[in-house]
Amino acid sequence: MYLDLLPRLNIYRSDLKPADLSVDQYPTLDVAAVLLSHAHLDHCGNIGMLREDIPVVASPESIVIMKGMQDAGISSLESETAYFSPRQPLDDQGLYLGSDRSKSYLGRNFCCTEEPCEALIAFLSRRPGQDGRNAKKLQPGRCCCYEEAAFPFGISAHPVDHSIPGAVAYMLRGDTTVAYTGDFRVHGRGAEASRDFIRQAKEASVLIIEGTRAGPSEGERSSEESVREECLKAVEDSEGLVIADFSARNFERLEAFREIASRTGRELVALAKDIYMLHRLQDVGGSCSTDGLRIYDEITDRSRRKWETEVVQAEYGDRYVDHATIRSNPEGYILCFSFFDMKHLLDIKPQGGTYIYSACEAFNEEMEIDFRRLWQWLQLFGIKPCGFSLDEEGTLSFDGRYHASGHASGEDIVRAIEEIDPDWIVPVHTEAGEWFEKRFENVMRVEEGKRYEF
Ligand SMILES: [Zn+2]
Repeated sequence: MYLDLLPRLNIYRSDLKPADLSVDQYPTLDVAAVLLSHAHLDHCGNIGMLREDIPVVASPESIVIMKGMQDAGISSLESETAYFSPRQPLDDQGLYLGSDRSKSYLGRNFCCTEEPCEALIAFLSRRPGQDGRNAKKLQPGRCCCYEEAAFPFGISAHPVDHSIPGAVAYMLRGDTTVAYTGDFRVHGRGAEASRDFIRQAKEASVLIIEGTRAGPSEGERSSEESVREECLKAVEDSEGLVIADFSARNFERLEAFREIASRTGRELVALAKDIYMLHRLQDVGGSCSTDGLRIYDEITDRSRRKWETEVVQAEYGDRYVDHATIRSNPEGYILCFSFFDMKHLLDIKPQGGTYIYSACEAFNEEMEIDFRRLWQWLQLFGIKPCGFSLDEEGTLSFDGRYHASGHASGEDIVRAIEEIDPDWIVPVHTEAGEWFEKRFENVMRVEEGKRYEF
């Protein structure tokens, strides 16, 4: 709150407030629910801080991804999206807050955009490893269909195409109809869903629209299909091991590499945490599947990875492949690794190979530093980078042919707005507010902490 990283509102869990923080002076909003468009962290990251009685409306896939990330990841405040560990003061002054091991995790209440299936309810009801004598239990929250929840206005969710499964747009119907795109694009496999939403949004008088790629620097435009072709060529030309680096939950890209692997006589090897997520997504009937995937046998302490021993090892024990097997036959595999998995190369010790970077360009200094480190790792093992490069002056550049953005291009944003033709355009998720103002008359640029009424 002091650093202004969280909006100054009085809508947060009371157990997270240290004794020296007062939020009473900030507005208490009458929040009926949070409408979550998809499970990328820049959208769901602060949900864990919200007052526990505020429900989250989300698609079944988004709920699974949030719970899966939390089960298989490191716990932090930002990741407490599906369930959280209540804190309490551990010092006399009430300044140090910690979790009580004897208290259960509490599940967040969800209003699912589809009737929640049994597998989803079961998944939300337990945390792997909770049966141990001293293990914390999970006390699940409610999970109903959003149509059964009593909201003060009508809500409908509409699937849209984005770089993660389960992305939806929303329409709110009260005195005014508001449409919110979430993050979307119209150049992926699910483009028809996005177009369908745009058609339905014509009734909206207020359009809240994302503008990640709005702006002048429109580069070469790749589609998922052209990316698949480029990556296929890169794998065909590769000798030795291939590493494919794409965002962990970009399961459409995973699909592309699954196909590339089968066409090049290789096997696709994912990390156990990805299999855990895919397994659960498969359970709720999404298009994701674990078919044919192998699992990298990490050198790690499995006693701390109950989600792996209980689910991944139990269900897919015969799919594991270890570093020595990969070292002896590097041409037989494509590894789904990223910069953060480079430590495993110290076990595999590959000699040469190709690293295909198939994700977004570095957009901040930290990411640039990571790329310079990645470059050193690849140099060390004689691995050829593909999709990004570092020249002798140290300039980092990216090759757009290996990645298609999860966001609509500037032209597609203009087309969507023209078709919907709203009374008000509210750009969000963008640094290009002016770009919108130049093109349209009825743009409302919102400021944090201000109230808007239509
Ligand atoms: Zn996103």
